[in-house]
Amino acid sequence: MITSYVHEIVRGTGSLLAGMKVTIKAMLSRTQTVQWPRQYLTLPQRFRGHIQLVPVESTGYPKCFACGNCARTCPSKCITVKGKKPEGAKKKSPTTFLLDFTKCSLCGLCVESCPVSALGFSKDYAMAGPSRQDFAEMDLLSSLASPFSTQASKEKDHG
Ligand code: SF4
Ligand code: SF4
Repeated sequence: MITSYVHEIVRGTGSLLAGMKVTIKAMLSRTQTVQWPRQYLTLPQRFRGHIQLVPVESTGYPKCFACGNCARTCPSKCITVKGKKPEGAKKKSPTTFLLDFTKCSLCGLCVESCPVSALGFSKDYAMAGPSRQDFAEMDLLSSLASPFSTQASKEKDHG
């Protein structure tokens, strides 16, 4: 009777130590989580967030010249692009560039089809909103400078 009791204690202690070994190992290993939203993960180069327009480094204007290739290539028809020539420019610039992210499959065909590499993938992984509509008409021009707003402000300055 006493022998089996001692045997049970030894077996229980062994099992407890085996469990503690896993816990202690996890406690001492590198942390895999971050305190989001106070901290953000550094994402790998290959990460695909929603598509975004690439700016010209010197001006901040979109590289895009509104050829519409990406919109025609998109299998889900989620890109709407319109453009016109800014005053004195040789090429068009987009006046509208909308993405319906509710339909986008992140296939990347639009990025590949752009002749001037004017599209890339964002690193935005924390997208949330109260309504689906918030993502149905994402204005990709909103984060870039516009040659049209410069033109408009010049016109305003000249009276
Ligand atoms: S990633 Fe694919 S589905 Fe999304 S906009 Fe580009 S072509 Fe369309
Ligand atoms: S294919 Fe490139 S240049 Fe043409 S509209 Fe799309 S983003 Fe702009």
